[in-house]
Amino acid sequence: MRDCVFCNIVEGRVPGAIAHRNDSFVAVMDKYPINKGHTLVMPAKHYPTILDMPKEEVGRLFIFVAKVAKGVKEATGAAGLNIGLNNGQAAAQLIPHLHVHVIPRHQDDGASWNRPSRLLVAADELSKWAEAIRQKISE
Ligand SMILES: [Zn+2]
Repeated sequence: MRDCVFCNIVEGRVPGAIAHRNDSFVAVMDKYPINKGHTLVMPAKHYPTILDMPKEEVGRLFIFVAKVAKGVKEATGAAGLNIGLNNGQAAAQLIPHLHVHVIPRHQDDGASWNRPSRLLVAADELSKWAEAIRQKISE
């Protein structure tokens, strides 16, 4: 979909700091991260929410998420991770292209979904995070 920012990133029309990808799924750094290393995992194909995706693909998506989560945790030295999926505007889904948040967490870091302002991170910094995660995934 031309007017979808995530489709544009997946298809390379808009730059994104891609940490990992295969034919079906893409992991890209969140431009407005809750914490350093906050990654979004999305299907290459446009599905608005998880309810629109064939069930067998949902299974494959989460296998990919688990792989990315390991890379995010190791690259950031996080003590834990939040893995979250918002479905629909009422559930705070801002971009209507299914995406799973992988958010590194540290003890008492104070990060939350309700945090009023997210971090602002330069594109080259996001690329560095993506590279660090990519290295850990491939190890
Ligand atoms: Zn899309």
